[in-house]
Amino acid sequence: MSYNVYITEATIDGAGDEDSPLAGRTVAVKDNISTEGVRTTAGSAMLDEYVPPYDATVVERLKDAGATIPGKTNMDEFGMGTTTETSAFGPTENPAAEGRVPGGSSGGSAAAVAAGEADLALGSDTGGSVRCPAAFTGTVGIKPTYGLVSRYGLIAYANSLEQIGPIAPTVAEAAELLEIIAAPDENDATTRAAHEEIGGPEPDDMREYAFADAADGDVDGLEIGIPTELLDGADADIVETFWDAIDDLESQGASYHEVDLPSVEHAVEAYYVIAMSEASSNLARFDGVRYGPTPDYEGNWNEEYAKVREEGFGEEVKRRILLGTYALSAGYHDKYYKKAQDARAWVKQDFDSALSEADVLASPTMPVPPMERGESLDDPLTMYLADANTTPVNLANLPAISVPAGETSDGLPVGLQFIGSAFGERKIIRAGSALA
Ligand code: GLN
Repeated sequence: MSYNVYITEATIDGAGDEDSPLAGRTVAVKDNISTEGVRTTAGSAMLDEYVPPYDATVVERLKDAGATIPGKTNMDEFGMGTTTETSAFGPTENPAAEGRVPGGSSGGSAAAVAAGEADLALGSDTGGSVRCPAAFTGTVGIKPTYGLVSRYGLIAYANSLEQIGPIAPTVAEAAELLEIIAAPDENDATTRAAHEEIGGPEPDDMREYAFADAADGDVDGLEIGIPTELLDGADADIVETFWDAIDDLESQGASYHEVDLPSVEHAVEAYYVIAMSEASSNLARFDGVRYGPTPDYEGNWNEEYAKVREEGFGEEVKRRILLGTYALSAGYHDKYYKKAQDARAWVKQDFDSALSEADVLASPTMPVPPMERGESLDDPLTMYLADANTTPVNLANLPAISVPAGETSDGLPVGLQFIGSAFGERKIIRAGSALA
């Protein structure tokens, strides 16, 4: 059965030997992550023929670790979506729920892992795009703290929000892949050395951060905060599965208390204003000159530019460029963009205070189960609202993990999300490993 996992199949072999940490393992790479000499489309017709001249830093690290990359995975166009249906290369099937979407935007990466077409995968998470597909396909996904992983070579959607993150069958494997890709990078000035943030000596090798060692399943004494706002909007079936998982953690020695995060009510609005604003600026480079099909230039640059963008971009991308341009335009900037930034600061504060009294926060990753294919394309607002529990984490630049927590009564996968303090990856990995 073909799930339409890959946009481009290609065997990219790593440079390591048999002792390399990822020797003999395949790591599928989302198609917005640059691979030297291998087509990279970001799910867009605009980049149908684009072949990057260099590797993203994370791809270099995969190669050095001896991994084989079996292909570039399907995704929502430029990462804009929650279902992988906005791809110009057709939708991806959900191997864990027939007829349903695999989530998005990294749906191809999660489906590759769920179907066993790759051992591990990389996705990118701007507002949930690693965690959502992990939740929808019964896999594990980590969105790292902003600055832990280099974005060099990632085709930008919204720079201030996104991170590349691992998807894997288990927490231990996801943590292992995170060790390989996490490290400061001189090509990305927003990367930070985790040892300076979390204390401890500078490691020679990032593997000494021992993310994989933290996957020891030991939650004895762990204090979990549960934001009630993130349960309010979720389907009853999902909330029930969530509480069963919390009971399970309690029986393993964890305890929990409820917390209030009043700001998260505004997170989806703030997220979409900021993400679309950044996107409208980032996507200006697709002009048929630097990137995109070369127009049949007839002397009027404005007309050719418009034609290339009319043909090259899909509906969702156009909608976002228009809305983002509007939100940034003179006269409206204060009303939308600045307000969204204020809300973002408030979300950060709320998380900081909740995390001062808990080791981790927990919520359902997605408030709804995987949608039926085709359901949400005509209804963008409903699709945006499905990001209610994931987007606050990106606004606050915190780390989070989605782990399988069970199934709905219809047998659909349910994901549970743990959120940690900045550079608190080890705690969320430890908590997640008690469940998967
Ligand atoms: N669904 C969200 C969006 O469309 C998140 C996407 C992402 O994380 N790349 O913006």
